[in-house]
Formats: sequence, C-alpha cells, structure tokens
Amino acid sequence: MNPFTYERASDASAAIELAKGNAAARYLGGGTNLVDLMRETVERPDMLVDVTGLPRGIEPRADGGLLIGAAATNTALAADSHVRRHYPLLARAILAGASAQIRNMATVGGNILQRTRCRYFYDNAAACNKRQPGAGCDARDGFNRYHAILGASPACVATHPSDMCVALAALDATVHLDGPTGPRSIALAELHRLPGDRPDIETELKPGELITAVELPPLPFARRSTYRKVRDRASYAFALVSVAAALDIDDGGVVRNVRLALGGVAHKPWRASAAEAALKGRPANAESFRAAAEAELAAATGLRDNAFKIELAKRTIVAVLGELTGDDA
Ligand code: SF4
Repeated sequence: MNPFTYERASDASAAIELAKGNAAARYLGGGTNLVDLMRETVERPDMLVDVTGLPRGIEPRADGGLLIGAAATNTALAADSHVRRHYPLLARAILAGASAQIRNMATVGGNILQRTRCRYFYDNAAACNKRQPGAGCDARDGFNRYHAILGASPACVATHPSDMCVALAALDATVHLDGPTGPRSIALAELHRLPGDRPDIETELKPGELITAVELPPLPFARRSTYRKVRDRASYAFALVSVAAALDIDDGGVVRNVRLALGGVAHKPWRASAAEAALKGRPANAESFRAAAEAELAAATGLRDNAFKIELAKRTIVAVLGELTGDDA
C-alpha cells in the first residue's frame, strides 16, 4: 500500500476544499471497496478525505419522495420504514448485497461509486484497459462468467457490481453532487458510463466532485415492487443477473406503468427501457412479459462463459413480473 495522508471533513465544503486540485485524492466512505483496491495497489491515493461525517439522514419529502444523505449506511437505508413501505425493491436490493458487516460500514455514496469486481482489474499481473488504458483485456478470452452481455465494448466487458444502484435506476433516482464548480444534479441512470474505448472513465463525475445525496421521486406504484438476484451461491456473491421491477396494473389486467432495471449485465445499472415500452398497454401475463424480455435482450451478446446469462436474464424478468402479478408459478 502506498503512503497517504488522512483528513476528516466535517461537511461537503470542507471535503471539496481538502481535495481541490489533487487528482490523487479520494473521498472515503465506509472504505469497503476503496481499501481493498488500495491493498492491491489498484488505487494509489496520496490523500484520503473521510466523508462519513456528511449528512446521513433519510428524510421523506413533502411530495412523497425521499432524500437520502450520501453518508447514510446501506443498513440504515434498507431498514428505513419509509423505504420498506414505499420502495420495497430498494430495501430488497440492498439486503441482497454483501454481508451484514459490510452493509453496516458501506455508505450510499460509496455504494454508487464502487468499482467492478472483474478479477483481472484487481490483478496487477493481468492486462486490463480499465486499470491501465491500452493494456488490453484479459477477461475477453479469460474467465468471464460474471461479465457483460449488454453495452460492452472490445476494450472492456466488466459489469457494475452494485445491487442498490439497480433499484435506484428503476426508481429514476437523482444524484446530488457538489464540487469545485458548485452543486449540480444528475440522473442516476446517466451517472455511470458504458465502457466504449475509455473503460477507465466510469462516471460523469468531474474532478473533485462528491456525491452529497440521492433523491427518489414519489412513485406510488412502487409499493408493488421487488428485486431478485440470481447468483452462484445464496449469499455474499455478486449477481449473475438481477432484476428490479415495479408494476402498475389496471382493473382490466393491463400494464398501466412499469419500471424495470437489470444488474450483472452491463458496465452500468441497466434500465430496461425497451422492455418497459413493450409492456405498457399490454396484458399483464407471461406472454407479454416474455415479449418484453426478448425486446430488451435483443442486442445482447455472450462471451465464452456468460452466454447463458442472456436466457437467464429473460427468464428472470418473466419470473419477477409474474411474482408482482401474484402469478410466480
Ligand atoms: Fe479490465 Fe474491463 Fe477487461 Fe475486466 S473486463 S480485464 S475490468 S478491461
């Protein structure tokens, strides 16, 4: 591990001032990913700015939405009564991730900015364009069971590891930022980038910017929502495929509205817009669900070890939507 200095910021302004102009500074939340990356010398900051003192409140808004402080822990968010009642898919997504000990430490801001768990990214002896631009990608012809089937590029086939972000993408969350050029907001769905030819640039964050809060808009039909994660073992494993879904069905059994996002399939949380468009106005039945899944996965491509995820994603979409209609046989 490289030498670094440690500073503790009392608020966002202090954190931004401490890191200002230092490309080798990193904001530190719970450290559950960053410290691992530092141990492997994949990340080599010369300064850590501890931002766990930033707001951690989880506050219902007058409009029915929710404002979540960036330093709120994953455990606190999953246990929050408003989240459990109004956004159950979010609570379930968080509880599907990591271990209780890690959720106790991990912050909402840090969860959003965690980096891929591609094994070659953590292995300094491997070729990895994300760690070293232009080096190549050992995952393409290597072990790629957990890698992307949507939106990948020749440069990188990694996936984003967060479960929480999949639910946030489905919920149209907004991420509030602050930085040297002032505060701004960005849709969660637009915060993470696809790899293209620069997989080392993972988000739309500008230098020195910091996540200060996440805001959920009101979504009454999200009371009928869930999150399902398919993985190689029952706990403490990353997703092969995951699905976050909320479903609004009218009295005639027709889909009035739907939110759908996928995890484990792309370099970013994958909002399933094609499936949503295919479902609206259609009968809420297995045939419509399968057609929507086919539409979403039409552009999917597989690698040596992960082609099975294309069919797995389709079946998981159908199963989750079936569960939300009360027909999950
Ligand atoms: Fe690196 Fe991406 Fe290739 Fe993994 S998939 S080795 S992160 S370039």
